[in-house]
Amino acid sequence: MRKIFVFLIAVFLCAPAGALSVINDTEAEKVLHKIITPVALAADIPENRLKIHIVNDDDFNAFVSGGEDVFIYTGLLTRIKNTNALQAVVAHELGHMIGGHMQQMSARMDAEMKRTMIIQALGIGLMVAGGNSSLGAGVLAGAGGIAQQSLLSFSRDEERVADDFAVDLLVRANVNPAGLIDVFEQMQNITGAAEAKINKNRTNHPLTAERIKNAGMKISQIKHNGKYKTYDDKEYELVRAKLIGYLYTERQILDKYPYRATDDAAIYARAIGNMRGGALTAARDATQDLIQRNKKNPYYYELLGDIEYQMGHYDDAVVAYERALKLDKNAPQIQTALALVLAERGKPGDNAQAIELCKTSLLAMPAPLTYWVLAKLYNDGREYWALAEFYNMNGDAKKATRFAKRAQQKLAKDSPEYIKAGDILEK
Ligand SMILES: [Zn+2]
Repeated sequence: MRKIFVFLIAVFLCAPAGALSVINDTEAEKVLHKIITPVALAADIPENRLKIHIVNDDDFNAFVSGGEDVFIYTGLLTRIKNTNALQAVVAHELGHMIGGHMQQMSARMDAEMKRTMIIQALGIGLMVAGGNSSLGAGVLAGAGGIAQQSLLSFSRDEERVADDFAVDLLVRANVNPAGLIDVFEQMQNITGAAEAKINKNRTNHPLTAERIKNAGMKISQIKHNGKYKTYDDKEYELVRAKLIGYLYTERQILDKYPYRATDDAAIYARAIGNMRGGALTAARDATQDLIQRNKKNPYYYELLGDIEYQMGHYDDAVVAYERALKLDKNAPQIQTALALVLAERGKPGDNAQAIELCKTSLLAMPAPLTYWVLAKLYNDGREYWALAEFYNMNGDAKKATRFAKRAQQKLAKDSPEYIKAGDILEK
């Protein structure tokens, strides 16, 4: 445990300055994918090409890059009112793409951004890095407005065009375009005070009141029977609770979800907050309470596994993660979490099972933590390749090169890992 702890701190605190900090989490990714897919389809992005990235940054912001990568900030996800409003934000960003406003963002810049993406897993990924709330918060400190400064400066006209396209896309997706007005009203609450001080002629961004008026007019011209598809917000509320549980301080969590709130989302957020604060028994009791309410939610078992692991109950953690994986078979982060616990537990057969889990997880989604767990599991030279991949994903070219070279010294020239190490060296 101690070894992991020191290792990951070193890695995360050395993230390159200005890097885009991205969160991996199976639950959040799946729910967001479900919410955004209809809008993406309306913009002619095939479902299997759509990639959603959760940027760990407290700005109320989102953007689209490269035509199919949607970046949504945690500052937006934790504040946005409902599913419909989130769909409206993405529709607006896709509107910039359709409007051809992204030319200024060159392919080079696009590649640069992806190169400096630092990917962090919630749950166990954070726990092995921290295990205490103060470090957890430090590790998750976001990148701070990078995209807004360097990538997003659209003109007033472009914003209006994007809003118009957004209304069209939402209607085409059979989503109520009124969500756009909800978003503007929320923006007004957040930025209203600042806007009041800005000279209207000198700002590039159309003032929010003007946008509400424009979008309202556009919506009033739409011919639609008004029977839009409605979305249940419950899954999204759980995702928001999860993000708040992981990203906010204990005090902020209780502000949002005071003890008198007894809905599932409130219990979820407080349980995660308890876990981060080291109140493991309380966290476990709350999670078991959630499981009693809904035995079919895989992510409650994931959280239970995280807590049991922290308590040092490896057998119970394995049982919990296996339950989670039975309910959600395609859950790369949970597969990695189970692999990590198996690697720590070290019973006969654990190592082989853990390696298989890592391989499955990497096929679905390459993630630094998974490579790092693999590096713990291999002991035949392939651990150097896994470390090379790990550092490569973390943007540390120097260490990636060093481990890729060492892997090639140890491995047979026709082995897949030798070839993959070569790919890293070519970069
Ligand atoms: Zn815009």
